[in-house]
Amino acid sequence: MSTLSHGLSWIDLKFLGRPSAIAAGIVQSPGGVALVDPGPTSCLAALELGLQWHGVRWDEVRHILLTHIHLDHAGATGTILRAHPHITVMVHERGVQHMVEPARLLKSATRLYGDQMDRLWGEFAPVSHERLVGLVGGERIEAGGRVFDVAYTPGHASHHVSYFDASSGVAFVGDTAGVCVGEGYVLPPTPPPDIDLEQWKMSVDRMLAWSPSTLFLTHFGPVTRVRPHLAELLDHLQLTSDAVRASLNEPGSDQERSERFAEWLRQELRGHMSEAQVDGYLLAAGFRHLWFGQARYWRKRGL
Ligand SMILES: [Zn+2]
Repeated sequence: MSTLSHGLSWIDLKFLGRPSAIAAGIVQSPGGVALVDPGPTSCLAALELGLQWHGVRWDEVRHILLTHIHLDHAGATGTILRAHPHITVMVHERGVQHMVEPARLLKSATRLYGDQMDRLWGEFAPVSHERLVGLVGGERIEAGGRVFDVAYTPGHASHHVSYFDASSGVAFVGDTAGVCVGEGYVLPPTPPPDIDLEQWKMSVDRMLAWSPSTLFLTHFGPVTRVRPHLAELLDHLQLTSDAVRASLNEPGSDQERSERFAEWLRQELRGHMSEAQVDGYLLAAGFRHLWFGQARYWRKRGL
């Protein structure tokens, strides 16, 4: 169940003790192992258990490939490197400085998560500059005994990259292909601060240009119905963005607008799944945060 292709597998990190919220990718070969988005430090014990289960020792892990630096994807990286300083970390060049000095990133995340930061994510330790390789997209890199094409895929985050292994057809796309649990609703995660709808659409084209047979989503796992999935992502990006735009003209505070949006989204999801499944989506994407990310985007455009 957790195998994508020969040598490619993944681990359910059991975020907050719940299944199907955050997944980490593993690329294994006799020549070394790479991890794709190791997840937050709060899930490190689950990551280590998963690696053991896959027969991976830390001294075999040579690379960590980060799609972006959000805490649920990259949070454990510094903690891992403190114990295993031989590992090289690949990240978009705009993310490099935040990995070296995470203070600004943590301040921005604290605005969203407040006093829940530690419970949700745990430590975000800095990574030393010499262990980081900055990417811009367009590179071809070797990791875990494979060659990956790197594409710049902003929209969800301005420093987001995706990794494609042509030999298996698997594309590790982080959050750019949305949140989708159990082949259900495809929800675009749109938290602040750098949602960009035009760039996101271009990133979808970039992913399609690879003609991948599988998209690997951090939230959650492999998707093989690639084209319908991405079409649904774009539809729902339009739908949620129309809802946020309309709400900007409604009376009340942003707090009230975001709460109304969260309730509307909850109803929208309820039309497609059970209440427990809706709660699963909430774990991967706080619904009120999604309003704030899109509202920021539209207001920058003068709405
Ligand atoms: Zn993210």
